[in-house]
Amino acid sequence: MPHSALLSDESYYHASVATEIYPTLQENAETAICIIGAGFAGLATAISLIERGERNVVLLDAETVGHGASGRNGGFVFGGYSLGERDLSAAVGVENARNLYQLSLDAVETIRQRIAKYQIDCDARYAGVYLANWFDDDRLLDAQQRFMRDTLGVEWQRISRQQLAERLHSQRYFGALFEENAFHFHPLKYARGIAKAIVAGGGRVHERSRVTQIVADGASWRVVTAQGAVKAREVVICCGGYIEKLYPALASAILPIATYVMVTEPLGERLQTALQTDAAVYDTRFAFDYYRPLPESRLLWGGRISIRERGAPEVARLLYGDMLKVYPQLAGTQVDYAWSGLMSYGRHKMPQMGKLPNGLWYGMGFGGHGVGPTTLAGEILARGLLGDAAALSKFAQWGLPSTGGAAGLLAAQMVYWYYELRDWLRE
Ligand SMILES: Cc1cc2nc3c(=O)[nH]c(=O)nc-3n(C[C@H](O)[C@H](O)[C@H](O)COP(=O)(O)OP(=O)(O)OC[C@H]3O[C@@H](n4cnc5c(N)ncnc54)[C@H](O)[C@@H]3O)c2cc1C
Repeated sequence: MPHSALLSDESYYHASVATEIYPTLQENAETAICIIGAGFAGLATAISLIERGERNVVLLDAETVGHGASGRNGGFVFGGYSLGERDLSAAVGVENARNLYQLSLDAVETIRQRIAKYQIDCDARYAGVYLANWFDDDRLLDAQQRFMRDTLGVEWQRISRQQLAERLHSQRYFGALFEENAFHFHPLKYARGIAKAIVAGGGRVHERSRVTQIVADGASWRVVTAQGAVKAREVVICCGGYIEKLYPALASAILPIATYVMVTEPLGERLQTALQTDAAVYDTRFAFDYYRPLPESRLLWGGRISIRERGAPEVARLLYGDMLKVYPQLAGTQVDYAWSGLMSYGRHKMPQMGKLPNGLWYGMGFGGHGVGPTTLAGEILARGLLGDAAALSKFAQWGLPSTGGAAGLLAAQMVYWYYELRDWLRE
């Protein structure tokens, strides 16, 4: 597999963003609301607060803004949750599922509006997303299209095999569904754009400020970092799959699950031998490929689900192989970037947001489908923090069941293998 001599664990996103540096917390600060974790969940909570007039917000990240899943993901901005639509409907009934799905679509719209409002230059391509059928069985797409329309009130356009073949030059697919209002963007530029808007709106952002302890301090909390502390009336924990040991009651309710991404060299006209669309693409398997064209005619390719992160060469090797299964005409393409990222999954695969009995707030468990839902969580948490907890009740049924620690991780890997095997047998 050809790869660039420069291949390192640095992501394409990191290499292609102008880095604004926010200071490490080095004082004893005081604020109304302290948010831990500057991924999309923490950023969305902060900006939602600021948009509602609460400027007394401090956002802390152990590393840098967007260091976690939010600054490394596939960049798909689309409706829905990690829990599939049918499972969602089975869990809460048609009416509630319809409402919850609509909330996720509203979040996609909120992101679109924020890009415009804060003039965030994040390579957004408003070109939709294809769900391409990996299996030679039209009933699968027909049934999904019907379900989306009749149950959730959402129109996904049916793309015939021939229509799809004109846009994706691959023998692998058998038609698609097209989500027209979905789009894709450079997630790290978006994350940093929101951080800038938070600071411009009066909030404070601190990078390289890992929280080591959260302790009750009278009616407030003391959030302790290596070089400083924040006294806050309210604290929100948004650490996703990177929470480690910060708060065991929350850490034990998620599994950190890895997925991988690579970016090719600029392909020039060669890109069009594979893709003649600006849209992003994923497929109907459990562990699907997800990919999209980038500026400079590069191709971003993501896939796989695993319980472990891998280094760049191994990620590049795996994904290069996956890419050639779909587009053998790209053989010989050089891989310039490859990286891993951690998602956080609750046992039920739905976002976890709310308030612990001791008063600490949390937003996590967005899994592999988190760009929209983190934005939605930010809105709901901000409203809750400002005294309107009504919307939180919509997610209350998905609590914090234990994911079983190391044994849970192993079980998850077995489940992934089982589903991958099932898809492989079905091919
Ligand atoms: C490779 C990859 C591809 C994906 N593709 C897509 C996609 O295309 N579309 C989609 O919708 N979703 C996708 N997802 C999922 C989506 O990115 C996540 O669900 C979402 O970004 C989670 O955001 P978050 O804020 O909860 O967590 P994160 O973005 O992981 O942020 C958590 C932050 O907390 C910080 N932190 C942790 N501990 C501490 C501490 N002690 N003190 C201070 N800070 C701390 C971390 O440094 C980190 O910045 C993908 C995920 C991955 C990993």
